[in-house]
Amino acid sequence: MLIDVHAHIDTKEFDKDRDEIVRKCNILIVNAGVDLESNLKSLDLEKKYNNVIAAVGFHPEFIKDKINEVEKCLQLTKNAKIISEVGIDYYWIKEEEYRKKQIEILAKFLEIGEKDQKPVIIHVRGGLSDLINLIESFKVKFVIHAFEGSIKNAKKIIDLGGYISVPPILLRDKQRQEIVKNIDLEYILTETDSPFMAHEKMIRNEPCNVKLTIEKLAELKKMNKEEIEKKIEDNFKKLVHL
Ligand SMILES: [Zn+2]
Repeated sequence: MLIDVHAHIDTKEFDKDRDEIVRKCNILIVNAGVDLESNLKSLDLEKKYNNVIAAVGFHPEFIKDKINEVEKCLQLTKNAKIISEVGIDYYWIKEEEYRKKQIEILAKFLEIGEKDQKPVIIHVRGGLSDLINLIESFKVKFVIHAFEGSIKNAKKIIDLGGYISVPPILLRDKQRQEIVKNIDLEYILTETDSPFMAHEKMIRNEPCNVKLTIEKLAELKKMNKEEIEKKIEDNFKKLVHL
């Protein structure tokens, strides 16, 4: 079975053909909520499709506009097996006070992840060292989604017990290819971040494109596709108790 550990199929981009997209290939999709409305949609999708798992979180990009939704999002985590999308984003958020706030909120989600033993799937854009400092004080299973840092930092994340998940953009991103070559398959997961991060620019990404990532991983790791697919599935099962 293919695993998409991070997608946003609740978005309007899938309103016309969501049913078809979800059922198109043999895949398990983790749908990440980014705010209150999408968390609720994510939970609905889990009810509707048996191959969708809801993740609930609060996207760090919304720290300014939607901060009043945080409490409710924190509460909704009790209905989900996975916590996401949460994290740190210094690319869009430049102000020190809001960056601090992002860290405070992420800490609250990590606390829940530790207490309820739920994996946390994390967005980090800029601020990786702040994330590493924070995560060191929690005993929590975690994934860095669409990791875009250095090989050295990828290894640091693995040392802390984390996984790195790879979107189809891998096909056109040399830096991510280098990371994949340099870390053990044991710590790799696949995702799409649909509708974003596709293998080609300007096209809508979709969960079944995990297939393309698997093919690329097979090439980079010099293994066959079936082995890679099975290994990723096993990794995912270690992360989440289904
Ligand atoms: Zn995302």
